[in-house]
Amino acid sequence: PDIIHFHRVSHRYEGSGDVLSDVTFTLAKGEMAFLTGPSGAGKSTLLKLVALLERPSRGQIVVNGQNLAGVRRGQIPAFRQQIGVVFQNFNLLYDRSVFDNVALPLVIRGIGHDDIGRRVRAALDAVGLLGKEKVSPITLSGGEQQRVGIARAIVAKPQLLLADEPTGNLDPEMAREVMQLFQRFNEVGVSVLVATHAVGLIKKLPYRVIHLERGQLTTRQSPELMEKTV
Ligand code: ADP
Ligand code: ADP
Repeated sequence: PDIIHFHRVSHRYEGSGDVLSDVTFTLAKGEMAFLTGPSGAGKSTLLKLVALLERPSRGQIVVNGQNLAGVRRGQIPAFRQQIGVVFQNFNLLYDRSVFDNVALPLVIRGIGHDDIGRRVRAALDAVGLLGKEKVSPITLSGGEQQRVGIARAIVAKPQLLLADEPTGNLDPEMAREVMQLFQRFNEVGVSVLVATHAVGLIKKLPYRVIHLERGQLTTRQSPELMEKTV
């Protein structure tokens, strides 16, 4: 079974032309893949469609067996609980502690206090940040801040993890560590889709590459084409 299925999906924003055009692909349950392509190719838009932050102009999207056309506005928060999202700019709340940032998805779900403590510590342990619960994320390095973002994304045990240029603000060493974290979550069964143009970072990794150019999937994955997207 597939965790993500796109069938002939096109998308345009108000006043724009098609930014995704007739896109068909699947991500299998338990698979990890990279979504590549130059800036403006439509990577963020594709991820937004998966998370129901946008509705497609045409075509069908099925996520974890749910046809998104049938998910009504009021059901979107519940739908999103199956998905963890990691952002390029971390999206942390700097007036709250690391603990509170990671706890947020659990608080929203109304999970009890003791459970929250246990699960936040497990998530921070998984990203190597146990012991930093009380500090403000502002005191952390970029790589550590992104690990807080990843802990927040996985704390509620989502089946699917989406990441949009998660290493865009990190130096190469931290970027490698972040990619290794995604691999580790994938190894324990989480489906992972990572949008990135850091081709150098991913070319030696054993995952499928889904490549977008001007809103279209390209099946050609020649090294020249790949290099051009760095
Ligand atoms: P990528 O993530 O690959 O850089 P995006 O999905 O962000 O690509 O953008 C694809 C295209 O859609 C770009 O031309 C961008 O300018 C346009 N776009 C993105 N968001 C909007 C929006 N909210 N309104 C209009 N155009 C948008
Ligand atoms: P903010 O405090 O700026 O809303 P969030 O991290 O809460 O930062 O969310 C940033 C964007 O990502 C928002 O548009 C939000 O709707 C969306 N978002 C947050 N959590 C999820 C999720 N689990 N799945 C999909 N989208 C999400």
